Amino acid sequence: MASDHFDVLVVGAGISGICAGYHLQTSCPDRTYAILEARDDIGGTWDLFRYPGIRSDSDMYTLGYSFKPWTDPKAIADGPSILAYLRETAREHGIDAKIRFGHRVTRASWSSEEARWTVDVERGERKDAVRFTCNFLFMCSGYYDYAEGYTPEFPGTGRFRGRIVHPQKWPRDLDHAGKRVVVIGSGATAVTLVPAMAKTAAHVTMLQRSPTYIVSMPGEDRVANWLRRHLSPRIAYGITRWKNVLFSLWFYRFCRRNPQRARALITRWLTAELGPDFDVATHFNPRYNPWEQRVCLVPDGDLFQAMRDGRASVVTDQIETFTEQGLRLRSGAELEADVIVTATGLKLLLLGGLAVTVDGAPVNFAKTFNYKGMMFSDVPNLALAIGYTNASWTLKAELICRYVCRLLNHMRDTGTRQCTPRLRDPNLQEAPFLDLTSGYVQRAMDAFPKQGPEVPWRLHQNYALDLMMLQRGSVDDGVMEFANPAERAARPEELSGARAVG
Ligand SMILES: Cc1cc2nc3c(=O)[nH]c(=O)nc-3n(C[C@H](O)[C@H](O)[C@H](O)COP(=O)(O)OP(=O)(O)OC[C@H]3O[C@@H](n4cnc5c(N)ncnc54)[C@H](O)[C@@H]3O)c2cc1C
Repeated sequence: MASDHFDVLVVGAGISGICAGYHLQTSCPDRTYAILEARDDIGGTWDLFRYPGIRSDSDMYTLGYSFKPWTDPKAIADGPSILAYLRETAREHGIDAKIRFGHRVTRASWSSEEARWTVDVERGERKDAVRFTCNFLFMCSGYYDYAEGYTPEFPGTGRFRGRIVHPQKWPRDLDHAGKRVVVIGSGATAVTLVPAMAKTAAHVTMLQRSPTYIVSMPGEDRVANWLRRHLSPRIAYGITRWKNVLFSLWFYRFCRRNPQRARALITRWLTAELGPDFDVATHFNPRYNPWEQRVCLVPDGDLFQAMRDGRASVVTDQIETFTEQGLRLRSGAELEADVIVTATGLKLLLLGGLAVTVDGAPVNFAKTFNYKGMMFSDVPNLALAIGYTNASWTLKAELICRYVCRLLNHMRDTGTRQCTPRLRDPNLQEAPFLDLTSGYVQRAMDAFPKQGPEVPWRLHQNYALDLMMLQRGSVDDGVMEFANPAERAARPEELSGARAVG
């Protein structure tokens, strides 16, 4: 099969893939690259999710790119505005011309002898087999399964006479105006959907098995908007970005170090939002401590406003079964509904489901350790752009894009073609990749790489530490092995201490 060759292949044209394109063409202009995207448009998450009210739940000054100021007065932006920002970025920098749509990458095989990846792709609806080769594979494939979201097995779904929808596959023809809606779940998606649907629905009930921490934040950042009126957009953006980075670092640390004080503070905020008669203790007092799972953000308290107005309500109970009319709960209560939304989460998926082999041996990523939160032990020339769980995704994704460029430039300057993070301690103490206790994380962690107790195997969820490590730290750190295939073939004994990846 004939194949196109690129120095770098990027997989995915969402926030991270566009970011990769920008940094590759800016910092490695002498390298060729292409972006392979399974879908027919750019945007990833922001193109896929089309449910009512879809919006960011972190501020756009940190979810936006460092090189493209976010100038909209809204700090918490709706999905279409984010998509427009991504399209504009791709167009302005000619990144859109590098994207090959309808290219689903299924397999990548590394050959040490050739120091290159062979990448197998299914193209278009007919799934035509296409092959590419590249020296470096940069996965910007996100973190969840695009095919479907997660829905638990609920008894009796077949009996329900209304419609059941999952937010990941929102039907275009669904008109919820005047209908009774139940949203199952109370995560980021549910707290977005409830106030949005409550604008026209007869009533929206948020049904949760257990409560989530929810805090309100102004939809517009007054400091940011003031700065933009008085300074150039770029300077204003830079200051706001740092302000928000530091605030979110502080809030996360405060919550993890002072769980009781953080819980009391959030409860006080909620009582102020919902009024003294609201049963905050039952519906908004989670079993876990703040930031053991994600804390959800709502702009301008829109969820609480909908509840105060009586357009929406919250029920904390468990589903016994779906019925013809709605749901029967463990408590015996019945919830009647015309539409039931299963906002029950995502299925996490590593590397977009890619099957990877290194010199013919399949890689089991669950047996690898993450290196600097972006590469995998004993897997050469492959990086993954994965963002933070406690701050905006883009902050980390962009650090990774820059680091990949530094790696590529180091290899060019030293005349090496292969870079492999080598795990030399076969007894490295292992911990899960993510330490959140949320169900969607726990369900997937067995298939994810591990992290070790110290850098570079430890995953920071901290922008300041990552900035030091990825932007300032040396790429030739004694753990990353830079080599050429011929050299490696001559000295195979050097690798014998490494942990097998298969
Ligand atoms: C509803 C929702 C809201 C969110 N809100 C926020 C937020 O406010 N703040 C925040 O920081 N994060 C948020 N996130 C996390 C969010 O996914 C990231 O912000 C960001 O969009 C991820 O960008 P990405 O480009 O890395 O991945 P994605 O947006 O997931 O894009 C990945 C792209 O890769 C493509 N792809 C995957 N596998 C393959 C393959 N095998 N071959 C070819 N192409 C492939 C996909 O088609 C997709 O286009 C949210 C996530 C969801 C689901």
